[in-house]
Amino acid sequence: MHGAMIYAPGDVRFESLDDPKILQPTDAIIRTAVTCVCGSDLWPYRGAEPVGAPHPMGHEYVGFVEEVGSAVTSVTPGQFVVGSFATSDNTCVNCQNGFQSGCLHREFMSTCQADYVRIPNAQGTLVATDEVPGEELWPGLLAVSDVMGTGWWAADAAEVKPGSTAVVVGDGAVGLCGVIAAREMGAERIIAMTRHESRQKLAREFGATDIVTERGDEGVERIKEMTGGIGADSVMECVGTSEAMRQALQSARPGGDVGFVGVPHEVAVDGEELFFSPVGLRGGPAPVRRYLPDLIDRVLSRRIDPGKVFDLTLPLEQVAEGYKAMDERRAVKTLLTP
Ligand SMILES: [Zn+2]
Repeated sequence: MHGAMIYAPGDVRFESLDDPKILQPTDAIIRTAVTCVCGSDLWPYRGAEPVGAPHPMGHEYVGFVEEVGSAVTSVTPGQFVVGSFATSDNTCVNCQNGFQSGCLHREFMSTCQADYVRIPNAQGTLVATDEVPGEELWPGLLAVSDVMGTGWWAADAAEVKPGSTAVVVGDGAVGLCGVIAAREMGAERIIAMTRHESRQKLAREFGATDIVTERGDEGVERIKEMTGGIGADSVMECVGTSEAMRQALQSARPGGDVGFVGVPHEVAVDGEELFFSPVGLRGGPAPVRRYLPDLIDRVLSRRIDPGKVFDLTLPLEQVAEGYKAMDERRAVKTLLTP
């Protein structure tokens, strides 16, 4: 089979790789239907994270079950399945508490930009659809495996409620999916912070009621002006930088909530600033598995279409161009078809 390997910052190659094999009785092998490049894949691509030895890439997937280990009974070969970037047994105490991203047997996916993928903890991780969905729904279901699940977590962690005001910091795929989540959860006002015209348009399509183009202190000022000087009920931080985190903390009203889901890179929060930001804080890797059945339903019933975050589709063999386009911000998110 073939798949993506990263060798160094800016150097992603499409190569012939060994076919994945069942290593544990709890594994499954899937044939990739569609996969994609994540905003977080850009951290090593841009040299913001060390690459180390050459390794495969990708953690988002939907596909067809090829083979299952002897302990896997929940899915069978031929079924179309959706999973999460963090695998989970779905039975341990953390899973039962709804935090499958903290599963005691968690393994992060990292080989998904390939024709075939080994899924550890397949029994707890994979959710099969009743029938094979139409191809037009695959991008939306793929989004559910990471960015839509993470956007949902951002809104959930920020306690978005019917009638509330929600702010989204970050206009990447997760931030845009955060807008969808806030609308689905009934927020009355959804303020998307973005300077890019195409992303503003998509944010509005997804349910944003207001756009703020300012950033940093000026962005916070605008949010305060728009909320009677008080701040927003819920703020979703979907970037992972110190600037975005400060903006989020300062944009929430006293007693409001911040959900932070951007993978942090050298984020530093000043203790005093934190002390004087009387907000609820919750974040981390999204417990996507908890949301999968519900989000799959919303996509299949065409209530939401998070697949619209993919604005570039390339054959898997052009994966290198997929990274480049996102790095240069020519694309929000690249869909890859084997
Ligand atoms: Zn678990």
